[in-house]
Amino acid sequence: MEDGKVIVEKPQIFVERTLAIIKPDAVSRANEIEEIILRSGFTLLQKRRVHLTPEQASDFYAEHYGKMFFPSLVAFMSSGPIVVYSLGREHAIQHWRKLIGPTKPKTAKDVQPDCIRALYGTDDTRNAVHGSDTFTSAEREIRFMFPEATIEPIPAGQFAKDYLSRNVNPVLLKGLTELCKNKPEDPITWLADWLLGNNPNKPNVDEPLTPKV
Ligand code: AMP
Repeated sequence: MEDGKVIVEKPQIFVERTLAIIKPDAVSRANEIEEIILRSGFTLLQKRRVHLTPEQASDFYAEHYGKMFFPSLVAFMSSGPIVVYSLGREHAIQHWRKLIGPTKPKTAKDVQPDCIRALYGTDDTRNAVHGSDTFTSAEREIRFMFPEATIEPIPAGQFAKDYLSRNVNPVLLKGLTELCKNKPEDPITWLADWLLGNNPNKPNVDEPLTPKV
């Protein structure tokens, strides 16, 4: 990240911060995207232009390690300079994710044609921009790109919210949807049984393997 330097720094207390990246495919349109960011009520707290090495790109996207698209993502993100920002506003994480739109530009064009990925993205890898998805990842990603910055500690309750939204809410939502479809007489026991049978961390065994003797 040799050419990185802090260009803008406004030490202000904001309700929330997030990390935004303009990826190599959209760096030539950075001024236009910055205009959209500012028009959408964000403050640019920090900004720098960096060129990640493949190792740095792998570290940054470590949570996707092992996925099919990981090698092309790392190659792409280290293929040229990127522009990174820490953005501040109320509900910054959620607002920035909404503004950039769905990961796949094709979907984005269909469902949200005015979002940034619909306007500037090309394909699933070259999708123009990145945004942190949770409070915890925003903190990690801002530290990664701006290691010298001081960030206020995350309020304790936020870890619980992130944990629930990643690990519990999606399966609970499915279970509650099924519960409403079935309307059993004893909904609590029904839901408990459904959760035991649909635990994503414990796949159901259809045919137990019986040892041959
Ligand atoms: P996210 O952490 O949600 O920004 O996801 C990481 C990035 O991985 C996305 O922004 C895309 O650039 C890339 N990505 C996600 N899914 C795919 C996919 N199916 N094929 C190629 N790249 C993908």
